[in-house]
Amino acid sequence: MTMKINYQNSSKLLCVIGDPIGHSLSPLLQNTMLEYLGEDAIYLAVPVKAGTVKDFVSAAKPLGILGFNLTMPHKEDIIPLLSSMTPEAMACKSVNSVRIKDGKLEGHSTDGIGFRRSIQDLGWDYPGNTVTILGAGGAAKSVALTASMAGAKQVHVVNRTLARAEQLCSGQGNMFPHSLTQLPELLPSTDILINATPMGMAGCGQASIPDLTALKQGALCMDCIYAPALPPFMQEAKKQGHIAGNGIGMLVYQAIFALEFFLDRSFDEETIGILGKKLMEISGVNLFGEKS
Ligand code: NAP
Repeated sequence: MTMKINYQNSSKLLCVIGDPIGHSLSPLLQNTMLEYLGEDAIYLAVPVKAGTVKDFVSAAKPLGILGFNLTMPHKEDIIPLLSSMTPEAMACKSVNSVRIKDGKLEGHSTDGIGFRRSIQDLGWDYPGNTVTILGAGGAAKSVALTASMAGAKQVHVVNRTLARAEQLCSGQGNMFPHSLTQLPELLPSTDILINATPMGMAGCGQASIPDLTALKQGALCMDCIYAPALPPFMQEAKKQGHIAGNGIGMLVYQAIFALEFFLDRSFDEETIGILGKKLMEISGVNLFGEKS
């Protein structure tokens, strides 16, 4: 990905680490925000191989790196290297953002809160609602645990591999594990249905989307997938007359909340709104050549 950024000798450094990392939209999103906010910092993509996150951290401290995002395969490997974790990271048991202050690493998780903000944009929220999540991987974990902590009435985790759903729900009073075959019986009482599997993702082959005819009337259907912009799960939900959204809001808001964390400042609602709109537009243009 090519982008023009303003660099000065005084510029602070931020980055995203992962492997592979070439496809990451994070530098584009973060540099756009840094420029808009007038922050003297730049954000780079740094390839870091599995098992070498400790080496990266040793280098990051003397380089004065202010903070970094983590993607596959580092989100859990980083945990033993942290001095502290935010309540969100503790709740989600995963970390996608780290800031370095006085040589100490603090971990944060913005995926779950980013996803929550994306449903709030559609006029929805978790408290009192029954949430059903397809998948029990990294995205499902952050989304499910945020919903549980935020006061969802019940959170049902439905996964192809039941043991993984059981592990995710363990110790959470309002979370219940299920296998995929149990989905039809959960749909009539589901208020918010979320696809947190790669089913329907561009490049993932033919998707076998579950039958949604039994889903509660008026339920919200969200997909964590953002490419394609109208994933098959969302298409099916819309066909059944449900309000549906893709994962672009999650992508954008997790980035905004990560930047707040790196800069140790809170953006006001107006700024979050402006940044959200800007990032959705540039993500749409970058992914699909059009505004989202
Ligand atoms: P992950 O950790 O690999 O987990 C994938 C989950 O999907 C697992 O529970 C897996 O079940 C299930 N699954 C995979 N293929 C399936 C299939 N064919 N049928 C049924 N279940 C299947 O992946 P992840 O990181 O959670 O990502 C999941 C999706 O969320 C991806 O599409 C990713 O792009 C998207 N995502 C979006 C954002 C965003 O910002 N919008 C952020 C993170 C992730 P098993 O346990 O049985 O293997």
